[in-house]
Amino acid sequence: MSTTDTAICIRATDYSETSQVLTFLTRGVGVVRLLAKGSKRPKSKSGGAIDLLAEGRCVFTTGRGQSLGILMEFAETVSRAVLRERLDRLNSALFMLELCGAVVAEGDPHPEVFDLLHNALGRLGQPDASPQAVRRGSPQAVLAYFQWRLIRHVGLLGELNACVSCGGKVGTRDVYFSSSLGGLLCRDCESAATEKYRVTPAILSALAALTAAEAGKKPTLPDKQAAAVNALLAYHIQYQLGKRLKTARHAIVSGTGDLRTP
Ligand SMILES: [Zn+2]
Repeated sequence: MSTTDTAICIRATDYSETSQVLTFLTRGVGVVRLLAKGSKRPKSKSGGAIDLLAEGRCVFTTGRGQSLGILMEFAETVSRAVLRERLDRLNSALFMLELCGAVVAEGDPHPEVFDLLHNALGRLGQPDASPQAVRRGSPQAVLAYFQWRLIRHVGLLGELNACVSCGGKVGTRDVYFSSSLGGLLCRDCESAATEKYRVTPAILSALAALTAAEAGKKPTLPDKQAAAVNALLAYHIQYQLGKRLKTARHAIVSGTGDLRTP
């Protein structure tokens, strides 16, 4: 029996001269891996090879266990061509795809993550017509909000208003973040932690802005702060996953988003 769902292509590899293996994040079924027979033929129903970021209506059958499902139809409904015009947008977008593939399991529906990705890709593609649009569509700011919401949604980050170790006030100086403890460390507690990430004033401001945004306010998040918090959030998510994400080093432009072990 086939399923029809809205989907975004998050991974694409060649299977043969004319066919692809595609991984989609669907709204209703979670991640699905599908064989797209003949999709690369110009006269295929999809009109040629299906690219990363393509979003549309998908008709497919799901595979059992490790086996692939079959993509029967794909009709693109949202063009993401504009994201390929600027490398910084594309790098942020590709990192978002990899993040979704890493945190959402096959066949495990997360419509909130689908909506988050759909909205973030839309914002990334907004034209730079006005100064306000530049702020809204700044790849680093969009990525920061996306990472924050994703991490919160999957339960990897709790409240950040107190030291995760002693429960005391965190302050603004000598603050660290511990991924293994899942929160901020005050200056009295940080020395005992072996795994920790230095939290600069720029990161603290960005975390405050993201918390305000989550509460429905519209704070500004300058690029430099956004880039700094992106590095921290990427560090946290990769530490939790226990692996590096390939696209992180292109999307994370400040400090290091690499997995650092103590
Ligand atoms: Zn403490």
